[in-house]
Amino acid sequence: MLNGIGNIAYLGASTLFILSLRGLSHPTSARRGNLYGAAGMLIAVVATLIIAQGAGIEVVLAAAVIGAAVGALLARRVEMTQMPQLVAILHSFVGLAAVLIGFTNYLMPAGEFGGAERVIHLSEIYLGVFIGTITFTGSIVAFLKLQGTISGKPLVIPGRHLLNLLVLVLCVAIGYRFLSVPSGAEGIGALLVMIVLAAALGVHLVMAIGGADMPVVVSMLNSYSGWAAAATGFMLSNDLLITTGALVGSSGAILSYIMCRAMNRSFISVILGGFGAASGTSSADIAGEVVATSVDEVSAILRDASEVIIVPGYGMAVAQAQTTISEITRKLDSLGVRVRFGIHPVAGRLPGHMNVLLAEAKVPYDIVLEMDEINEDFTNTDVVLVIGANDIVNPGALEDPGSPIAGMPVLEVWKARTVVVSKRSMATGYAGVDNPLFYKDNTRMLFGDAKGSVDALLRQLDA
Ligand code: NDP
Repeated sequence: MLNGIGNIAYLGASTLFILSLRGLSHPTSARRGNLYGAAGMLIAVVATLIIAQGAGIEVVLAAAVIGAAVGALLARRVEMTQMPQLVAILHSFVGLAAVLIGFTNYLMPAGEFGGAERVIHLSEIYLGVFIGTITFTGSIVAFLKLQGTISGKPLVIPGRHLLNLLVLVLCVAIGYRFLSVPSGAEGIGALLVMIVLAAALGVHLVMAIGGADMPVVVSMLNSYSGWAAAATGFMLSNDLLITTGALVGSSGAILSYIMCRAMNRSFISVILGGFGAASGTSSADIAGEVVATSVDEVSAILRDASEVIIVPGYGMAVAQAQTTISEITRKLDSLGVRVRFGIHPVAGRLPGHMNVLLAEAKVPYDIVLEMDEINEDFTNTDVVLVIGANDIVNPGALEDPGSPIAGMPVLEVWKARTVVVSKRSMATGYAGVDNPLFYKDNTRMLFGDAKGSVDALLRQLDA
């Protein structure tokens, strides 16, 4: 009876997760999508407790209270710019959970399994622990890279592909041994050796990825965490975990594919890493002069313009300048200037980062355009306002084959009549590459914190 209720609840939770994914695919329905997801998870937890018939309820409730308190505190404290790190560390938890559950499951007596069933069960444990370990260590490295604790540059060890392949083959061989020995010390030993190897593989795989490929890695680790959960679901014969894991695994894989396509990169080359290792042009080799401008001058150029495109980047998120930018948009609109936004697929530090910030600041969706929709229009644009963006507007990606980001499509802002770049200094962006845009004849640098600059600009436009 209780099992029946639990299973129906599982079905409801799975449906809510699917509706949640659907909602999250568009900014207008994203909030609803989030609510569906949260409701689905609540139902899932309660249903699991019902199915377990209250076994270990005290421990589960205590863990849930502590976990919820830590989660709520973190979610309140975390800045929007730190979201990618939070996502990366959460992926590592999923990986760690898969490892711990797999290990515990192996230690528990598997009396009811025999013959082929035993082999399948042990394969599920081995696979879950393997993917979980790679997800765990890979996500920790991604977290450290995004946090800036370790360099974002790719670690390129000679013969690294061979090394990865060797570790993979070794893991398969150990897996074969793991399946053939009787459960006990020898099996535990095999599992532990595989964990050490997979941990090193996870670290190495993500260390080898640099610069502009990090967004794909974050969504790829998201996918891995889903598959680790699905493997755990098979191991525990838990249908909901299988469905949820498969949903996360496949949606993460699809997102990675979409991002690879947007960045003109093949999935395999991202996984193999090394992108962003070339040295490229340094600022000393770039011809041209940097011309600084003032708020007064920018205000005058904007008043004279009829077509303006705003390109936001990571710096806008750091400065939290989006609300003022939204007001500037309305002000310019009232002055008869047509304003649109150009969004690069990897702007900021999270897929959709800029869209979320602009939606929060109530910028209408119909003037926020994707790179492909707006790239042709820069030629007919009077002014482009680049707010805290750098890598996504770097012409070197198209013009300099030696650039670490060569081949990555960028917003071709330099084709506009005038480009105004708001940033604090000449510092590079995430990929650590100098930007020839800042030296072009039609570029004006508006130095200073983006929030301070746009606040002053709005005051000037209002005056
Ligand atoms: P970048 O990191 O290339 O550049 C951001 C610029 O903002 C910096 O050059 C910085 O210059 C400026 N900035 C920082 N703080 C402020 C501030 N308070 N006021 C004004 N300017 C500021 O960002 P982009 O958005 O152009 O490109 C995103 C990069 O991040 C890409 O390389 C992408 O691959 C990577 N990435 C993207 C992820 C995603 O999913 N979107 C995930 C992980 C990485 P200064 O210090 O001089 O002010």
